[in-house]
This record gives sequence, C-alpha cells and structure tokens, in this order.
Amino acid sequence: MSQNSQRVSSPSQNHNGKNQKRLVGFSDKINDESFSNYITKEKNLSLGLAIFTAAIFPIILGLGSLFIDFISNTEALMYGFFLAIVYLIFAFRFYNKTKNTKSWDGKVIGKEQEFKKGKKGNTVESIENYVIIENDTGSIHRIKSNHLYNYLEANDKVRFHGGLNTFEKYDKTNDKIIYCNVCESKNDISRERCYYCNSLLLK
Ligand SMILES: [Zn+2]
Repeated sequence: MSQNSQRVSSPSQNHNGKNQKRLVGFSDKINDESFSNYITKEKNLSLGLAIFTAAIFPIILGLGSLFIDFISNTEALMYGFFLAIVYLIFAFRFYNKTKNTKSWDGKVIGKEQEFKKGKKGNTVESIENYVIIENDTGSIHRIKSNHLYNYLEANDKVRFHGGLNTFEKYDKTNDKIIYCNVCESKNDISRERCYYCNSLLLK
C-alpha cells in the first residue's frame, strides 16, 4: 500500500553531530502483524456476537410457542428467523461502518467547542470538543474527542488508521506524549510500547 510507504522515525544527524530520533513521518510499525491480528480478532468477535445474538430470536420464539396455544411452532420459528435476519441486516450495516473502515490521510483545519447548557439555560453543564479534519479527497470529518482536541493543532497532518479507527500525527517532533492507536491510552513519547495494552506505539 502506497500510503504506508512513507518515511518513519529514523535516526538522523542534528547539528551537534549526535544521533537524534526525528519523529517526523507516519510510522511503518503499523505494518507489524500484531495490528492486523488485533483487527482480525476484533472483527471476528463482533461477527460472532452478532450471529449469537441473532440466533436468540428463533430460539426464544420457538421455545415460547411450546407453551402458548395461539401460535404454531413453525410460525413462531418463521417469525424468529425473520427477526434474526432483520437484526443481522442492521448489525452488518453497523459492522461495516465501524469495523471495515479504510485508512486515509488528512489535515486538521480547525477545532470547535460546543457548550452544552443545563436545563435552566444559563449554566454550562458540559463542553464538547471537536477536531475538524479534511481528508485528501476533500471530505470533512468532525471528530468528537477531548484528547484529540488537546493533542492536535490546526495544520497538523494526520493519518486515520482503518480498522483501529484511531489517528496518528505526522510530526511528533515536539511532543512529550503519544496516544496508543489500539486503546488510546496516553503514553510518554519515550516509550516503545503502550503501558496499558503493550501495543507498539506508532512513532
Ligand atoms: Zn494501548
């Protein structure tokens, strides 16, 4: 994939002649098989869960019809399978939206805050933070996220990692922290792996 072929953090000479890690570029650690394994595992888990849940409809209705008279066992099973299919259609739509996402690159074009007022209308109950990102095809994504709001600035280049559904910043040079692209935990920039889930940090 061409989008994964960009330069990653690599030792380079600074003006003192010492090796210094330059944290510029999207990391090629994303190609580590631990990430694809994780995505496959998550996908299988949600598919399994959807099929398991769908199977509950005919089972409940089939069993229920044994104890009630006004519906035959065959009818009950038919309704059960019908409900299972309807459920699966919705489940697969959700699955495609959340699990089969594609990677893309973009740029932060702004940040927004929404102040949610309380019932009386005068006190601010909560603040919702958004980062506005334009991807390379011109689509605008409005991402609701407190940590990205603080982590990203306007003009930052970012990559959205499909399957993981998390963002990576292109230039991490001046950063003291980095977010795990699997569990979104905040890590010190010096770490190689996430302190919480042990995934490789993309730098
Ligand atoms: Zn993690």
